[in-house]
Amino acid sequence: MATMKLLVLFLACLCGSAFSSPTDLVYRNSTLVRNTIFADERLQGEIFENIDAFRELNLASRNTQVDYRLPTTTRPIHYSVLWIIDFSRSEPTQSGTVSIQLAATQQNVNEIVIHADDLVLENVQLALGTTNIPITHILEKERQFLIVRLNTGTLNFNQASPVVYTLTVSFGAPLRTDMYGIYRSWFKNSPTVAASWMASTQFQATSARYAFPCYDEPSFKATFDVTIRRPTAYRSWFCTRLRETTNTVANYQDDIYHTTPVMSTYLLALIVAQYDSREVFDQAGLLKFEVIARPGAIQAGQGEYALEVGQKLLAEMSSHTAYDFYDQHPQLKMTQASIPDFGAGAMENWGLLTYREAYLMYDQQQTSSHFKQIIAYILSHEIAHMWFGNLVTCDWWDVLWLNEGFARYYQYFLTYWVEDMGFSTRFVPEQVHTALLADSADIHPLTNPGVGSPASVSAMFSTISYNKGAAIIRMTEHLLGTDVHRQGLRDYLRGKHFQTAVPLDLFTYLERAGNNANALNYGNDFNFVDYYRSWTEQAGHPVLNVHVNHRTGEMTIYQRRFFISPGANDVNTNYIIPITFTTGSNPNFENTKPTHVISKAVSVINRGTIGDHWVLFNIQQTGFYRVNYDDYTWNLIIIALRGADRTRINQLNKAQIVNDVFQFARSGLMSYNRAFNILSFLENETEYAPWVAAMTGFTWLRNRLAGTPQLTQLNNLIVRWATTVMGTVNYVPAASETFMQSYLRYQLAPIMCALEVPACLESARNQLAALQATQPTEVPADSRNWVYCSGLRQGVAADFNFLWNRFQTHNVYTEKILLLQVLGCTRDATSLNTFMNAIVQTNELIRPQDYTTAFNSAVTGNEENTQIAFQFIQNNLPQVISAFGSAVTPLSYISARLRTAESIAAFEAWATSVQTTLGTASYASVMRGAQLARDSLAWTASVQDDINNYLVNGDQQFGTTEAVTEATTAVTTAQQPGITQPATPDLPSPDVTTPAPGSAVTTFVSITAMFCAMVAPYIL
Ligand SMILES: [Zn+2]
Repeated sequence: MATMKLLVLFLACLCGSAFSSPTDLVYRNSTLVRNTIFADERLQGEIFENIDAFRELNLASRNTQVDYRLPTTTRPIHYSVLWIIDFSRSEPTQSGTVSIQLAATQQNVNEIVIHADDLVLENVQLALGTTNIPITHILEKERQFLIVRLNTGTLNFNQASPVVYTLTVSFGAPLRTDMYGIYRSWFKNSPTVAASWMASTQFQATSARYAFPCYDEPSFKATFDVTIRRPTAYRSWFCTRLRETTNTVANYQDDIYHTTPVMSTYLLALIVAQYDSREVFDQAGLLKFEVIARPGAIQAGQGEYALEVGQKLLAEMSSHTAYDFYDQHPQLKMTQASIPDFGAGAMENWGLLTYREAYLMYDQQQTSSHFKQIIAYILSHEIAHMWFGNLVTCDWWDVLWLNEGFARYYQYFLTYWVEDMGFSTRFVPEQVHTALLADSADIHPLTNPGVGSPASVSAMFSTISYNKGAAIIRMTEHLLGTDVHRQGLRDYLRGKHFQTAVPLDLFTYLERAGNNANALNYGNDFNFVDYYRSWTEQAGHPVLNVHVNHRTGEMTIYQRRFFISPGANDVNTNYIIPITFTTGSNPNFENTKPTHVISKAVSVINRGTIGDHWVLFNIQQTGFYRVNYDDYTWNLIIIALRGADRTRINQLNKAQIVNDVFQFARSGLMSYNRAFNILSFLENETEYAPWVAAMTGFTWLRNRLAGTPQLTQLNNLIVRWATTVMGTVNYVPAASETFMQSYLRYQLAPIMCALEVPACLESARNQLAALQATQPTEVPADSRNWVYCSGLRQGVAADFNFLWNRFQTHNVYTEKILLLQVLGCTRDATSLNTFMNAIVQTNELIRPQDYTTAFNSAVTGNEENTQIAFQFIQNNLPQVISAFGSAVTPLSYISARLRTAESIAAFEAWATSVQTTLGTASYASVMRGAQLARDSLAWTASVQDDINNYLVNGDQQFGTTEAVTEATTAVTTAQQPGITQPATPDLPSPDVTTPAPGSAVTTFVSITAMFCAMVAPYIL
């Protein structure tokens, strides 16, 4: 028996290493172009600064024939702006005057082109000193330009001593209602008092031009003197400290602010509101830090957490960059402002940061750890922008990742340094995995030339710019080493402060730091700038196909670009890839400094050991790529994961394996039977990262299997595999538990309740009943998400009414948002209609920024909600269109949950019947949603047998050969480069995926593949 086993595994080993051919790199059905991206999955992760998140926007068209960029023939030097905010009319307004000091940058300039839109302009005047220059001006709507032409002659030009002209314009407009430019908002301190008006701003990316005429592109930096005239009963805030307040007009006061640093227009902000503040002054009485919000929130102490942790984050970032925030400019202070209506979520205006109330206000009893960590990490993100974005600004929106990649990176690591909250662990499942997914759908590279119109600028606020940007920065940090990377960034900030930057600036400073520290010894072929360009100028990322010869230790690595939808694109791309790996003979998951950098399509690295032991690439998933192995090496990994070695493998690598195999199976690179065999280690797994990665994968798969017989079997499998981990986190918070234990329960318990685990259902029922008792017991804040939802599912209309009333009367916004997220869990159709009516009607109950959250809850709370919500939309189409701007988003929630061909056909027939009401563009979007539902059914049908195979037959068992004599050679970071190219590279040219039929390669592969297929049934 032992002899037989040895023989079989030797053959398997041979097959593994013999698979050094391209055919196993292609997808199972290479001829099939198959979409795997459906509407229930948001490729655009959680971009809380996404300016378009809340409704369909009517931005200017994306006309590629038009050059939307400002000419650089003039430049601004200094602005003086007066803004007058007037709430006394039935429609509140803003108006004022701007004087721009500007100069020509070359000879023969006869016009000045700046931005202005949706403004009434008066008294446009150009002066040189006290002399008025005769001009005419026109407004060009498509490009949102104000063009000022000299009637005769040209502007004086002197390079050595610029000739300064002053352009003065008076302007005015109603306060906007779409949360752009200067817009109006309102708040109440309690449900029974009247609403109070306020004005706030959102200028990024292209909305300063709605507030005043200006050079509204990031590279036109200047200084600003701002005066805000506001009603006497109000206060105002701006980026810099208040210099003085004067009385100039009856019932109004002028707040005159100190001059700003040299800055871009999109970073300006102002607020006029009857707000309260919590302030911190230095010993000289200068304002340093403050949190401002509606008085009802400040007086309840809800600003204390942001005040405390915000100061710590600012100090930590000051020390990390060796550039103190308060040294950026003598009149900068730090104001964190809570805004009731805020489409963008949060914004890094210099010195006046703005947030949705739920992202800033914290209540110790009522706010869950989930919202607490959101507050901490959004503060980190915006604070990091004070350096990456404000001090050094992306030169144009096509390199937005220079701002957002760093802000997202520090969102995790700055928070980790100050608050921990597991952020260094969470970066991988929350950022790397989401970035890999979005990046495998063939969208834009990080650096994306061709961005021009406001619509194309808006599209840059994407998961690629944020998540992938952060992931590539982290990969580079580990390539250079953390200290060297930090030094390079410090040099970059000093070198480019008060300027804009392009990627090459960053690369150059980092490379210099790397060379100075001797940290770039990756072989003579290695070029750091080429490395960075390969990841930023090319879209996508590779999967490494690793084939190990366990007898020689040779590991052959093939890199191929990974696509989540097979057949999407045949063109291969090579990346310059930092390599880390560790082996079962001497596991070391701590050293993340790469040992090699590979750039070719095929590379060979010697493992340094021989014998049958596992190898895992991409330690702690610091590299931005996926890894697939030959079958035999996967078997060795499975044995390790199912056995005692599991605890020696870093949880980030286990999470990587989980995420990789789910996506390999989805895209057709691996069978589901194989994927489940690998995932079976979850049955004994209790760590955070692999479970979070697993639940993401299972949720996607459960949505595919909804309506099929396999769903119940899959649900049972998940419950069985989760039994051990749920035994460690339980359903009741323990006094001594860590944040991560609590956070794991927060994520797992809702799924356990949805899968109807009795312990979860009972716990939820009892806790919701206790909350409604005569002597109520509040549900622990961290358990409310699943207790409320599951309690509603098991409850009646009275339970809904109780929580609906709680929503309407609660003073803590995080609790209100949570309630909106769960109210759709009711199974009572009347209650669900009450909820949906409240969303689409004009009232003061649910704010427009929260419409999509609430409606999504209504549709997805239960499987049967889909048709109830669809019926509601059919009955109330005009109201739905009015509330959301169009019916596309709410109808996309419906179409994503259509589970049968009949329901899809009925949906399409209805959409066609109301085509005129929907409008042409919306109708096309709605029909695309129906097609995605049909694609989903087709995809599911194609994998059902494969999935069934595992669900029926369960795990395969694997063994290893007897111990082979090992010759261990330690792999060290100093060992370079050790990469050899195969004697006969057998990958076809990069743009061909499969060899031509009958080619030598095909024949060879066919034979080995058949041979392995014959052996395969015995390898059990
Ligand atoms: Zn940001």
